[in-house]
Amino acid sequence: MKNNIRNIGFIAHIDAGKTSVSEQVLYYTGKTHKVGRVDSGTTVMDWMPQERERGITITSAATACEWKDHKINIIDTPGHVDFTAEVERSLRVLDGGVVILDAVAGVQSQSETVWRQANKYNVPRICFVNKMDRVGADYDFTIDTIRTRLNGRPIPIQIPIGSGDGFSGVIDLFTEKAYYFHQNGKNIVQEGAIPEELGDKVKLYKENLIEQIVETDDKLLELYLTGENIPMELLQDALRKATIDFKLVPVFCGSALKSLGIEFLMDAVIDYLPSPLEITSVEGTDPIDFNKTLIRTPSVDEPLTALVYKIAVDPFVGRIAYVRVYAGLLKSGTAVFNSTRQLNQKIGRVLLMHANHREQIDALEPGNICAVIGLKDSVTGDTICDKSQQILLEAPVFPTPVVSLSIEPESQGDQEKLGESLRRLAQEDPTLLINHDSETGQTIISGMGELHLDIIVDRIKREFGVVANVGKPRVAYKETISKEGKAEGRFVRQSGGHGQYGHVVVEFAPLEADSDQTFVFEDKIVGGKIPKEYIAAVKQGILEGLSNGPVGGYQVLGVKAVLVDGSYHDVDSSELAFKIAGSMATDAVLKKCNPILLEPSMSLEVITPGEYLGDILADIGSRRAKVNNIEGKGDVQEINVILPLANTFGYATALRSISQGRANYSMEFDSYQRVSTELVGSVIRATS
Ligand code: GDP
Repeated sequence: MKNNIRNIGFIAHIDAGKTSVSEQVLYYTGKTHKVGRVDSGTTVMDWMPQERERGITITSAATACEWKDHKINIIDTPGHVDFTAEVERSLRVLDGGVVILDAVAGVQSQSETVWRQANKYNVPRICFVNKMDRVGADYDFTIDTIRTRLNGRPIPIQIPIGSGDGFSGVIDLFTEKAYYFHQNGKNIVQEGAIPEELGDKVKLYKENLIEQIVETDDKLLELYLTGENIPMELLQDALRKATIDFKLVPVFCGSALKSLGIEFLMDAVIDYLPSPLEITSVEGTDPIDFNKTLIRTPSVDEPLTALVYKIAVDPFVGRIAYVRVYAGLLKSGTAVFNSTRQLNQKIGRVLLMHANHREQIDALEPGNICAVIGLKDSVTGDTICDKSQQILLEAPVFPTPVVSLSIEPESQGDQEKLGESLRRLAQEDPTLLINHDSETGQTIISGMGELHLDIIVDRIKREFGVVANVGKPRVAYKETISKEGKAEGRFVRQSGGHGQYGHVVVEFAPLEADSDQTFVFEDKIVGGKIPKEYIAAVKQGILEGLSNGPVGGYQVLGVKAVLVDGSYHDVDSSELAFKIAGSMATDAVLKKCNPILLEPSMSLEVITPGEYLGDILADIGSRRAKVNNIEGKGDVQEINVILPLANTFGYATALRSISQGRANYSMEFDSYQRVSTELVGSVIRATS
């Protein structure tokens, strides 16, 4: 099998030039004839209108292009922190990353965040110091910040010739040759002499380059120490290995705006980032026996093993699933199996995507990424495989939505369209949940942050033409009971003709605190006092009663209900009558069972440079938080706390401003906690 695929992503702080670099790469690889410019809103990669207007990249469009007989799949990753789910899922399928840095700013806050995420997913990377044409561009300073702020081991492969307006070329340290850019319409690179004033620097950097490389390879180190001249190819091979093993990060430079240095960067992608075949085999579990680990190597002879990593709705072809194939062949028109959901699925067309146009292919080999039409019931994170050789791959983990808003169309006639658009968007986005509040009749959307929901509302307007109004951010409170109680529900109507008769006696008790059940129902009716066919209706009625608790009208959890007695009428009894009786008994008893308000609490982990620790703790203190742990790792502090969800609103913004964007956090649902009686009033007032 050929080693000619690269699955890469450009990762960076917002504004470092990710979109511009992607555009340049597409231009050089011949996929676009006119280079898109972010500033005039004509880029190919950022094809959602919001992205063009806001100048940010949200979805991870997968784009295939070719460079020197290699196929390069580019996964565009978002830079904004509110879209970490997108970053995480792209990193899950990348084999290598190009970290783009701004030559003036050096490493910025979000570069730290994405760098850490790339560490988590074991993504080898190279760096591109962009914007060398800007006034104040400083290559050496930028490289220094890779060392100091990212704890990385940068190894410069190039030295820029000049900077700012004077940026005119690069020196390749391996060949020790200077290449000058000529901008006469097209970019032509010409070999030339190394400027005299850079002679010493080249010597010094070359010495460093060799030393850094030989340190990673015992054989080369031996040669080096014996004073042997090490051939360039051996050094490059060792550097490739060291990059893939996370020991070194090769650094290149250029200017995406001026279209300088892009070809060298593309060469570096091929030279130093791994092909999917070099990545060790993928591991999964046997869906039938969870204790069994299965290993698949990236070969066409292995059974099909693929991961759905994104669902998108394409304006032209409809729903598409982005899939990475880890082993076997993914063929169009074949039957496959979704082992996550245990469903037969069909592969329709298999497409290579170029941001917003597509190329149909027959089959996809291991290591490759494509879009699939078909896979109707598969969603992000699902494994696709052979039915006879099932495997479950580890799915990317997505955080639980924390913020909810009510949403309604401005014009009532758009109700159905709104529902349809939300359903579509939720298919694409695993962190967007849609619920219907039966009490208020409102549609509730839940997501990862205010900006996240803001973009959703915006997309509904642009893509589906529905203008929607949203309410205030809200928390989903619950209630429980803390005491036993017994109640009777009797629903009797005698209104001429057919009457209604349902009568139940129910005992209620709190469930054990550690129970993982939210509701338990037992039927202890003996001697046919209530015929069997009405029992399910009683349970239904109790559940209805529990959906509207006495403290604030929230759902009541942690209740055991035992149906102990009752009576029926031969003619007048019906399911409806027993359902109403069950609900009446519940309504009558809950107030007597010492009801308690429960609030969702979140576990919050903050990782911050030490200098912001004090301010972050002071802010957390004002949010009714319980600090569990503070731990220092080098200059980085990790804080773990539990705090009420209601007090997390605005946290992303607060943390960003306290730490100048350098701290980052992750938050997930922890548990429902009792709200003390003194606080109940203020909590309920705050939500109503
Ligand atoms: P992204 O947010 O990382 O995708 O960054 P963009 O590609 O959208 O670029 C952000 C801004 O930086 C835009 O105004 C670009 O025109 C500008 N920019 C990108 N690359 C360069 C460069 O090499 N030099 C200069 N001077 N500006 C650049």
